[in-house]
Amino acid sequence: ARPVIAIVGRPNVGKSTIFNRIIGDRLAIVEDKPGVTRDRIYGSGEWSGKTFSIIDTGGIEIDGEDEIMKSVRMQAELAIEEADVIIFMVDAKSGLTNADDEVAQMLYRSRKPVVVAVNKVDNIGRMDDIYEFYSLGFGQPIAISGSHGTGIGDLLDAVIEKL
Ligand code: GDP
Ligand code: MG
Repeated sequence: ARPVIAIVGRPNVGKSTIFNRIIGDRLAIVEDKPGVTRDRIYGSGEWSGKTFSIIDTGGIEIDGEDEIMKSVRMQAELAIEEADVIIFMVDAKSGLTNADDEVAQMLYRSRKPVVVAVNKVDNIGRMDDIYEFYSLGFGQPIAISGSHGTGIGDLLDAVIEKL
């Protein structure tokens, strides 16, 4: 079977923007199962001659800090179950948050391969913004920009290396 990549992270960090850039028009049609919340979207991608399935998590809009944390936690758990490699997305503009640390601990315990993608690095002058994310403990963070489409090749190189 094809390897599965999941994108996890807080709401608003840019997961869906990057997912859409990676899949292009390769959105997978998944039948709704009764009783299953459809808060994930499946697509497929290709890079360096390798094809993979990719999951965008966190599609359902929710309010309130507790609800958001509950949902981010649940998505991280599902991603850990389903994925071969996890893209853990954080936001250079907001910096590191407690929610990021909590997700990091869950991912760390899972022992699944993780690549940290620091999104919203919209200009090279702000590359310094990625250094604080080394403290998450998953090695070198990859700077990307969903707005400009930069860094996505480097991100996929790092992901494929861990497959
Ligand atoms: P998600 O909730 O993690 O799926 O995040 P979205 O993909 O919906 O993006 C949240 C917001 O961040 C949207 O307004 C995007 O346009 C914006 N956004 C996404 N990527 C970037 C980026 O690289 N730079 C900037 N400045 N904004 C971005
Ligand atoms: Mg989204």
